[in-house]
Amino acid sequence: MLRDPQAVRAALDALSRDHLLRARRCVDGFDGDEAGAAPVVDGLARVNFCSNDYLGLARDPRVAAALIDAAKRWGAGAGAAHLVTGHTQAHHALEAALADFTGRESALLFSTGYMANLGVLQAFAGRGETVLQDRLNHASLIDGAQLAGAKLARYAHADVADAAHRLATAEAPVSVLATDGVFSMDGAVAPVSELAALAKRHGAWCMVDDAHGLGVLGAQGGGVAEAAGLGADDIPLLVGTLGKAFGSFGAFVAGDRDVIQFLLQRARTAIYTTAIPAAVAAATHAALRLLREEGWRREQLAARIARFRAGCAAQGIALTTSTTPIQPIVLGDATSALAASQALWDAGWWVSAIRPPTVPRGTARLRVTLSATHTDAQVDGLVDALAQALPDMAQA
Ligand SMILES: *Cc1c(COP(=O)(O)O)cnc(C)c1O
Repeated sequence: MLRDPQAVRAALDALSRDHLLRARRCVDGFDGDEAGAAPVVDGLARVNFCSNDYLGLARDPRVAAALIDAAKRWGAGAGAAHLVTGHTQAHHALEAALADFTGRESALLFSTGYMANLGVLQAFAGRGETVLQDRLNHASLIDGAQLAGAKLARYAHADVADAAHRLATAEAPVSVLATDGVFSMDGAVAPVSELAALAKRHGAWCMVDDAHGLGVLGAQGGGVAEAAGLGADDIPLLVGTLGKAFGSFGAFVAGDRDVIQFLLQRARTAIYTTAIPAAVAAATHAALRLLREEGWRREQLAARIARFRAGCAAQGIALTTSTTPIQPIVLGDATSALAASQALWDAGWWVSAIRPPTVPRGTARLRVTLSATHTDAQVDGLVDALAQALPDMAQA
């Protein structure tokens, strides 16, 4: 327990000694107006290979214009929670569009994906029940089970047989089986068809957090659910975030009308919080239209991923089997990951090092992410820089 300022200082020193101290880099601006322009930090442009802006929508001028126009109409802040006076036509229209996009009856906005996951688990799990989760699920799903007061059981990563075993042997009945759609730190796609069938057989709710799949996977960008052809019958609780491929901010849950209605009654993270600004909802709506209409973004992204993987193979850089925009290079210890990230940074490339506890001990990594706005030359440049920066151990 931290009892005084000296204990806090000692804790910080220990983190620093273990190379686990986290720090932020402050972006001064961008090196140009185009959507893929490099962020400038400490006066130098750094090509960004670690954002979640997979489709290049975050700085699209049409999305920004929608934000500005809506801010003129609605102002900067919503002024209250959705259930009080904060719910506007802009929010309402976005919810309808997200329901349509995901092929669900209804959708409910949340301020963040973190809050959406807390809210869903609060509403659909409780004391005397178990929430069963993939071992590598996002922190917000783990926290959500604990906040709901449910027992947390975890199965081996993407291991359907282990999930089935734990479902059958759980002490308290499993109310929710939750998985990331695309795992945020390793890019793997969850076996959602099998998990959905398993949950159905056991009468548990299948919850999929598709923060990294929506907009990216599936012919129309409908994520892992679309790619696997799974409707609300199979995945009754579908969570999406709007700060990644949508390039905006916020999150939503999509499902049957009654499920969403129930969420609105029970999810404390939707009830006791200010609505996101209407202008943000309008910007997200504009981004959703672009995401649906401009399929070239997904095609270009797929081409960049393929090019990166081929380049790494040619240079002997070991990758995982991920086929998504998340392409980790696992280095092992935190020191190696930090050193590689720093060497890339010094050469003008921004690739973050991911360390425990975000990933399991001994699997610290560089988390490379690809975007539709990267050029072929940038992808090739990064591969060359990686070949220079990586310790020999990462070279196959
Ligand atoms: C990013 C992320 C979240 C959190 O979403 P925010 O809107 O950023 O709070 C939740 N789940 C997963 C899998 C994520 O990657």
